Amino acid sequence: MDQGSAVLRGALAGSTGEGGATHSPPRPDPDALLARLDDLRAGYGHLSGAELLRATLVQGPLSGGTALVSSFGVESAVLLHLVASIDRTIPVIFLDTGKLFPETLAYRDQLQSLLGLTNLRTIHPDSRALARLDADGTLWSRTPDHCCHIRKTAPLDQALDGFAAWINGRKRFHGDVRATLPTIEGEPSTGRIKLNPLVTWSAAELDAYRVTHRLPPHPLAGKGYRSIGCAPCTRPVGPEEVPRAGRWWGIDKSECGIHRPGV
Ligand code: SF4
Repeated sequence: MDQGSAVLRGALAGSTGEGGATHSPPRPDPDALLARLDDLRAGYGHLSGAELLRATLVQGPLSGGTALVSSFGVESAVLLHLVASIDRTIPVIFLDTGKLFPETLAYRDQLQSLLGLTNLRTIHPDSRALARLDADGTLWSRTPDHCCHIRKTAPLDQALDGFAAWINGRKRFHGDVRATLPTIEGEPSTGRIKLNPLVTWSAAELDAYRVTHRLPPHPLAGKGYRSIGCAPCTRPVGPEEVPRAGRWWGIDKSECGIHRPGV
């Protein structure tokens, strides 16, 4: 077994889902995922942004079977515009946790209309899980990881069922675990490929793209919010802070869990 296979097999052995996953896809084949990842990186790993999306999605190895997952947050318009410019029918999955800012829901509607997205899928947490585990809606204040699991990870797992790959908008300048992200990632626990087309983009490049293409800002962008998730777990940040400093501030948590360890 080569070193890459050993690493991936180790990750697979340790992937049991977060907080007791309610959705259990078939165990992926680690060798098949590594081989696919090698092929994709050899052919497309040097690309980013529109070039990466076009090469992989338009009659490329990821055409069909790929979804974009978007939070419709402060930086989301750029990736949504890039994808819509290539194919407005690509599934766009939006996770409405039930705890979002109303401004985010309005922004989703605005961008859907502006970009002509024809396959926007708004998904929600399982109502029975909420009734059983978060009846008063305050789970976020006690065990946020558990709250993220039932409001984010579990419903997204279900929504991505049947997709071989997904696109997301993380960038290295977000820092922390995102600082070293590759452009093309494999997700051992699901066997899916993840495309990170904006991973090398800077905040200035995102702003420039948004202005050039006349994309509206998120309604909260002008109020100091530079990374937006659920309302109870998001605050504005000061100019001296990194964008994600306003997420789950004051506790040891920087990710919601939908981005599982990748290779
Ligand atoms: S971000 Fe906060 S409110 Fe949203 S799912 Fe996670 S813990 Fe719950």
